[in-house]
Amino acid sequence: MRRAPILLILAYGQLSGQSTSTEPALQIRFCDEVALADVDFARLRDLVSATLGKAGVGSVWLYCSVSNPGANPVGCREALKPPEVVVRLRPQGQGRHAQALGVSVAPKDGTGVHAHIHFAQIQNLAARARTDLPAILAITTLHEIGHLLMGPAHYPAGIMQSHWTEGRVAEVIRHGLFFQEFQSRTLRVNLAARASRCVRGAN
Ligand SMILES: [Zn+2]
Repeated sequence: MRRAPILLILAYGQLSGQSTSTEPALQIRFCDEVALADVDFARLRDLVSATLGKAGVGSVWLYCSVSNPGANPVGCREALKPPEVVVRLRPQGQGRHAQALGVSVAPKDGTGVHAHIHFAQIQNLAARARTDLPAILAITTLHEIGHLLMGPAHYPAGIMQSHWTEGRVAEVIRHGLFFQEFQSRTLRVNLAARASRCVRGAN
């Protein structure tokens, strides 16, 4: 999943999910351009939250519909907070990222904010891998969140591997979705750093 600059995200939506940790929670603003089925979004959210939870990272979701902005809560129109990331579900990849499952801006210091995930490419991989759509949505979302919080590096196995084949999808699903221990530690440290920046900014 390659990375490209993303300059501006417009967001609308609904608050859902909650953190179960006393550590700072990651806030995920999910901007839906494809009107994802409620059941698929709920499964995606649960898979991603459970995997982040295993890494010691709580998560709070803000669901934002692009096609039905009138139903969105005011939170979707508010400025982003430092512990917040934006995951935008787009109909398909474009340009040089046309075949990618997702793209994100991924600074080395883990201060990334914006990611796109591509519905058509995710649907295609789900069909080829003969697995359910939310599983591939979750893998892609976790991968891009991993980039946002840890930078652009890829690893040979697990969620942060660079090249996704049907076989690799099956392997990751068979072993359960999880970040490796050193990745989990980095996620927690970098998220805490964002929260501390937030506190300093408020004082
Ligand atoms: Zn990647």
